[in-house]
Amino acid sequence: MVQKNRLKRSDFIFVESGDAFQPFQYSVGMEGSRFFAEIRDHKKFLGLRCPSCRKVYVPPRKICGPCFKTMEEWVEVGPMGTLSAFTILRFPFIDPETGEKKPVPYGYGFILLDGASTQFQHFLKVDPDWPPSIGIRVKPVFAEDRQGKLSDILHFEAA
Ligand SMILES: [Zn+2]
Repeated sequence: MVQKNRLKRSDFIFVESGDAFQPFQYSVGMEGSRFFAEIRDHKKFLGLRCPSCRKVYVPPRKICGPCFKTMEEWVEVGPMGTLSAFTILRFPFIDPETGEKKPVPYGYGFILLDGASTQFQHFLKVDPDWPPSIGIRVKPVFAEDRQGKLSDILHFEAA
């Protein structure tokens, strides 16, 4: 028997548009605060080394997950690094940091800073003279007016 007035899939799809304002803040913790302060004040990257497995975490975190050990040994890493993976973005969007359209193209990459064991993620400068490739050496470009935020690093570029 065929059911009358059966709902179609399209009956469940609603489209709503408008502006949503969602202010939020989060704490980067003691380790993250020192990490960002060092970038702001000295343009240096710090990581934390695990006393058990010797891994150096960048950005730093309090506990080594695999070993479950508290980390307290601060280690300077970078600023040079090796590009491990990347993507190039060509679709513009509004940058939540600035509220303005982010110029394209730009890259986003995983960078293994010298002396670190974990990948650091950040923007990459992309231009025709420098198409990024895996394995190349990169260096950070810091903002002139640094405020203790991730945006204190403008991007990484070819070293
Ligand atoms: Zn460990």
